[in-house]
Amino acid sequence: MQVFILLGLVLAPVLAISWARTRRESRRRTLRTRPFPDPWRAMLDRNVALYPRLPEALKTELHGLIHIFLDEKHFEGAGGLVLTEEIRLTIAAQACILLLNRKTDVYPRLQSIVIYPHEFDVPTARAFSSGHYVNDTETRLGESWRTGAVVLAWDHVLQSSRDLHDGHNLVFHEFAHQLDQESGEADGAPALDRASHYLAWARVLSRDYEDLRRRVAQELPSFMDQYGATNEAEFFAVATEFFFEQPDLLRRQYPELYNELKSFYKQNPGEYREPE
Ligand SMILES: [Zn+2]
Repeated sequence: MQVFILLGLVLAPVLAISWARTRRESRRRTLRTRPFPDPWRAMLDRNVALYPRLPEALKTELHGLIHIFLDEKHFEGAGGLVLTEEIRLTIAAQACILLLNRKTDVYPRLQSIVIYPHEFDVPTARAFSSGHYVNDTETRLGESWRTGAVVLAWDHVLQSSRDLHDGHNLVFHEFAHQLDQESGEADGAPALDRASHYLAWARVLSRDYEDLRRRVAQELPSFMDQYGATNEAEFFAVATEFFFEQPDLLRRQYPELYNELKSFYKQNPGEYREPE
């Protein structure tokens, strides 16, 4: 009898998790087939410059992912921002563009997206070599936390989303960090399909990251934002922005990096065309 009670205690949580997973998968299947309203398409045409360029099949996949994202993630206005459908949709669409064609659990660690109207201050502590710390503040446009949140400044989301060719996209940047953080600390090495890919990934990203660092240190011109020279995690996030916004330039300057990102994102933005 005791054996059965013990077995029950062990199996109950396992069965509960598997039941919750099955229920979630079933809900996701329904959400993927939910119609995508025409006003939402029109809004994305206006706000997300990449959206009208996506092939039709990817748009259909994107619509399903957006429904799932909006259903599962909590949005919160901060600093006086009043949330609107436009804000939710513009952010969800861009976050989900990074998931297209990939096997995805739709940012499993992420629970909340916090949105400020403009750039925001965060408290920081500055350390000195004497061992003292001084409380300080830093102004930021966005943050990605491993503990389940992304923080964004709405005006920069919209501006960087509407301009496809400036190489900047705040949502792509912060959600690339989320993908990176799915495999642990943000270190520029997100979870890859196969373990054998890590060697090539590390070789190419390290080399091109060092090239960017050298260019920044020597004040040489570089098309890529020098913020990418901060560390490997920022390099991956900045490279993601350029992969989607300046694919031809990235392919010319860092062809192997372009191919690694193409293999990771399973997309080829260099082939996306202006709608006729
Ligand atoms: Zn960053």
